[in-house]
Amino acid sequence: MGLEVERAEGPYIYTSNDKQYVDFISGIAVSSLGHRHPKVVKAIKKQVDRHLHVMVYGEFIQEPQSAYADLLTSQLPDQLERVYFVNSGTEANEGALKLAKKHTGRHKFVAFNHGYHGDTQGSLSVTGRDVYRDPYLPLLPDVHFLDFNSHDGLSTIDEETAAVIMEPIQGEGGIIPAQKEWLQAVRNRCDEVGALLILDEIQTGFFRTGSLFALHRYGITPDILCLAKAMGGGMPMGAFVSSSKIFESFMFDPPLNHVTTFGGHPVSCAAAHATLKELLSDDYGKRAKKIESIVREELTAEAIVEVRGVGAMLGMELRDKELTQKVVEACLSEGIILGWTLHSNTLVRLAPPLIIEEELLHSSLQTINQKVEIHS
Ligand code: PMP
Repeated sequence: MGLEVERAEGPYIYTSNDKQYVDFISGIAVSSLGHRHPKVVKAIKKQVDRHLHVMVYGEFIQEPQSAYADLLTSQLPDQLERVYFVNSGTEANEGALKLAKKHTGRHKFVAFNHGYHGDTQGSLSVTGRDVYRDPYLPLLPDVHFLDFNSHDGLSTIDEETAAVIMEPIQGEGGIIPAQKEWLQAVRNRCDEVGALLILDEIQTGFFRTGSLFALHRYGITPDILCLAKAMGGGMPMGAFVSSSKIFESFMFDPPLNHVTTFGGHPVSCAAAHATLKELLSDDYGKRAKKIESIVREELTAEAIVEVRGVGAMLGMELRDKELTQKVVEACLSEGIILGWTLHSNTLVRLAPPLIIEEELLHSSLQTINQKVEIHS
């Protein structure tokens, strides 16, 4: 888009020529509390005045890390009791894949067509789109892709499988929610054969879909949960979360299984802690649900094939690629930032910050709807 950013505040981004844009995609599902939320900024400043990096992750006890890990795990099912902090989504998935291999002693993975898990080699190996993987082959061996929401092929998950990795709602794949019974069937199949279930909630986490995590709405507990994006309130932050039993396999042979210099950076942890505290202090889940109902109410143009998704993780499917491009460009010139998802060119991503005022939401959606009407 080439915008030259000057500053950002709440739902807005301002460019160097002082034009105001509504960030209708939250920096790709990151700025759920808007940009520079005052409580997050305050926590960052306070930590900057205490200390920055002091040591490779895990050597010293750093209060911002332990305090945040306590708060985070208090919100998760009991088994998800141990947190390993990293700096991004793809690193969270890399750690989870390694942990699953180490714990099970197996190396086969099952993933899903159109899934997205990041761009480093392990995460790319389980990302379900050949066009992104092919230039980098060979990647991890023994990765099998199944169709999302299909019961066909679940027997591919077998006694040799280390883990199944999946998103509860495929984000880059075009905002495709998993069906509840199907997700439960995947969970059951993993249990039957002793494979771990890695749930990538990097995009769905932190109230984006109306519940703190999508696992709450689906009623399933993964063996490993991966988090990032909105977690840090605008700071780089990620984590993989699991049980003490599973994490034990990271403690020996070799003793340092997964080293990271900057994992759990104290400033990122302070920001993440303030973000989660704020998210828990108000009804952000209700806000996400309200956003969904307003989006569905306002987007009525005939060329809209479908509005889909859950809470504030939504997509507007348009008739064709050309119309999609025109609408995104026309909205940008009207000061509304929209975008695509990585695996679809007919779906407009709608993921406004959860703090967006209803009036701004209505007016932005009216503009979007109008642009679809004009260009179709
Ligand atoms: N998993 C999912 C579901 C994602 O949406 C993304 C980012 N779009 C990632 C992993 C990778 O995260 P990051 O860009 O922080 O590495």
